[in-house]
Amino acid sequence: MRTAEPAVRDGAARGRPGSGGMFHASVRLGRVAGVEIGVNWTWLVVFALIAWSLGAAVFPDANPGLGSGAYAAMAVVAAVLFFASLLLHELGHAVVARREGMEIEGIVLWLFGGVAQFKGLFPSAGAELRIALAGPAVSLAIGVGLIAFAVVVPLPGAVDGVIAWLGTINVVLLVFNMLPALPLDGGRVLRALLWRASGDFTRATRTAGALGRAFGQAMVAGGVLVLLLAGAPGGLWLALIGWFLIVAATAETRLATVAAALRPLRVGDAMARAPVAAQSRETLAQFAAGEFARSRHAAYPVLEGDRVAGIVSFRDVTAVPSDRWTATTVGEVARPLEGLHVLAPDDDLGEAAIELSQDDLGRALVLRDGALAGLLSMTDIARLIELRSRSLPPATAG
Ligand SMILES: [Zn+2]
Repeated sequence: MRTAEPAVRDGAARGRPGSGGMFHASVRLGRVAGVEIGVNWTWLVVFALIAWSLGAAVFPDANPGLGSGAYAAMAVVAAVLFFASLLLHELGHAVVARREGMEIEGIVLWLFGGVAQFKGLFPSAGAELRIALAGPAVSLAIGVGLIAFAVVVPLPGAVDGVIAWLGTINVVLLVFNMLPALPLDGGRVLRALLWRASGDFTRATRTAGALGRAFGQAMVAGGVLVLLLAGAPGGLWLALIGWFLIVAATAETRLATVAAALRPLRVGDAMARAPVAAQSRETLAQFAAGEFARSRHAAYPVLEGDRVAGIVSFRDVTAVPSDRWTATTVGEVARPLEGLHVLAPDDDLGEAAIELSQDDLGRALVLRDGALAGLLSMTDIARLIELRSRSLPPATAG
């Protein structure tokens, strides 16, 4: 599960297949409070846009009479502090999530702000509510604190301008962020409350997701109107954020629906049993002419004798130039067991599907008492859904 933050802020979408690249950290910045912090390259675009608009328009309008060097310095400092405040917002989510027992992959800054990436599902409606409120609580404290500071303490014009803007933008984003629309924090709060009231996670997600799509559509329409009627480029940004809301709300609703359909099923029901395995010490040439030539799967479990050692994908093999295939072993290019999704046959298939949708390999090893029991891919899950939809009466709509 991920908490994506659009609009230079918040929201979330659990495992959006296909859009994961934007949330991938291109550069790692380090760890804060034990949480990995990174930036995606798309963030550079929004950082440059914000710094430019602050230096060229916002600060000269709000604080007239300063030199162009002062405006440029104010703009860069304000943009850096702005992203620091977004990180603190995400850290608020992350710290509370960890206290609720969730695993955290990290925080990534990207085109629309920050994303806190968690693994697995929310343990309960109460936990989701507390996690969703933690980020906005941090923004509220920052916004109100800075505005009060700028009003009460006499400061030089340039410093006052930066602090007042930072306080205001944090409050403005907080208000936007609390709209009751998935994937925004307000949508998460609404979903958690509906979930707690009805006990039905899927229906709660559908309601909050429908609101997310409706707000997204309104923002796209509003953005296009602003762009056409006023010629203001801000309209394009508004439309882009609206589009992101629609995509993320749709993906989250779909994933919750799939997870619900899979709920009575186990990993063992969908996995490929006794999958063809590669041996760690055989060469890539032997593998390509042997197991791969016979079965042509995208990925294979790797064994060291009888012991499960990892997974090798055909992409890992083709990354090695073919003239080195006789000198390279499968074990050298395989992905080791640590860091892979490892499942048991009795695990919940819905949760496994969500984990797999977040995995770039899209495959998990299934082990029983340490021994290889099978291999699970999204294709296996899709095939099972297809089979069940044919052999079962159609589910009632609504
Ligand atoms: Zn948030």
